[in-house]
Amino acid sequence: MSVIRDILNFNRSWAESKRLRNPDFFSRMAEKQKPRLLWLGCSDARVGPDKLTGLPYGSIFVHRNIANIFATNDLNCLAVLEYAVDELRVPDIVVCGHYGCGGVKAALEHSGIQPIDLWLDQIRFIYNRHAAELDALDEEQKARRLCEYNVTAQVYNICRSTIVREAWKRGQKLSVHGLIYDMHNGLLMPMGIEFHSFEDWQQERLASHFTNGA
Ligand SMILES: [Zn+2]
Repeated sequence: MSVIRDILNFNRSWAESKRLRNPDFFSRMAEKQKPRLLWLGCSDARVGPDKLTGLPYGSIFVHRNIANIFATNDLNCLAVLEYAVDELRVPDIVVCGHYGCGGVKAALEHSGIQPIDLWLDQIRFIYNRHAAELDALDEEQKARRLCEYNVTAQVYNICRSTIVREAWKRGQKLSVHGLIYDMHNGLLMPMGIEFHSFEDWQQERLASHFTNGA
């Protein structure tokens, strides 16, 4: 049986069960979306947010790409962030990395001029900032640590965007969080990095100026 037939079969029974439980479910959903968070995650097939978070249908506005990068020169990233913050007014943004990320591993192993190489240059840039620490680790630990640094860097990229800073300045309630997912045990873990206001972010910037923390 083809995967498309599987999808269509599942979809028909899913839609039917939703309608049986709540006849207005789809008409209410179709009116407008009101997601509770923006999720920036990796495209890896094993890290889709719906299953990991358990949030109900319609709760997550999603942007995914290879190695969960918030590229500040990428119109796609910026448009998603702008719409989520300015129009949908999501109160939370999650950057979720994951251990065993193929994009992070590839960035450590080779470089080149193919589209994926150029995209992953952004990971190599983070690696270079932390090379002294990372080069002292074995290969597995190095990749894990770089996955963590990548989450931190993307949280920083989001917070330093005009979109988020302007939202904070006008008093909009908005928090940015870093999480990492471990595929070996199925657990999401907080990275201990989150910002809730412009003041929060300013304090971190002052601190990181001295520690080179990003
Ligand atoms: Zn990945």
